[in-house]
Amino acid sequence: MSEASTSAVDAASPVAAERLRITEIFHSIQGEADAIGWRTVFVRLTGCPLRCVWCDTEYSFHGGQWHAIDAILAEVASHGARHVCVTGGEPLAQKRCLVLLQRLCDAGYEVSLETSGALDVAAVDPRVRKVMDLKAPDSGESARNLWSNLDHLLPHDQVKIVIASRADYEWARGVVAEHALEQRCMVLFSPVWGKVEPRELAEWIIADKLPVRFQLQLHKLLWNDARGK
Ligand code: SF4
Repeated sequence: MSEASTSAVDAASPVAAERLRITEIFHSIQGEADAIGWRTVFVRLTGCPLRCVWCDTEYSFHGGQWHAIDAILAEVASHGARHVCVTGGEPLAQKRCLVLLQRLCDAGYEVSLETSGALDVAAVDPRVRKVMDLKAPDSGESARNLWSNLDHLLPHDQVKIVIASRADYEWARGVVAEHALEQRCMVLFSPVWGKVEPRELAEWIIADKLPVRFQLQLHKLLWNDARGK
């Protein structure tokens, strides 16, 4: 079925409110943030209104398939993992993502949400651990940061800043200080693969005694960024 005809069916369907457009659901190891290393089911929602220059999931911008939320829950359950990560794209670009998050929490999973920081997170179920980006200048999307989101962060959430240059690092350092980010939740600094030497970023953090957590994306070390890993 073509994308256009699928959308038309969905819009007219009485069960439209129970569906989401999904790029992939897969079972792997969480490669970053607080739940790093845990076996995790990833639910990747289709679509993103941003275009970060270093984006590594451009394949999620278009396409995908409509899935009923019940079917998503059944597939997640089939993998027998305690952790579920809802990601994208930008998952919050589909409003029904909020329903999926709530249903996953109700089912007893440890649920995380990877979000760009450009869309409002206020209505996300408080049981969900938000991993929220702040976009540094070299992403090309820094103007999209929705700063009011900082007021909706809970202690179990995480702010992630992806750093592609020394200028990005200095911007990130300034943002952490200006907003006392480390007092709100964990702050993660992550180098852009191929743009900043990880060791260089680590040494900057040490030299400046920053209250942030350095991270490398474990899945890239393990699988060299293969899709579905
Ligand atoms: S917000 Fe995420 S998915 Fe969207 S363009 Fe940026 S990195 Fe890619």
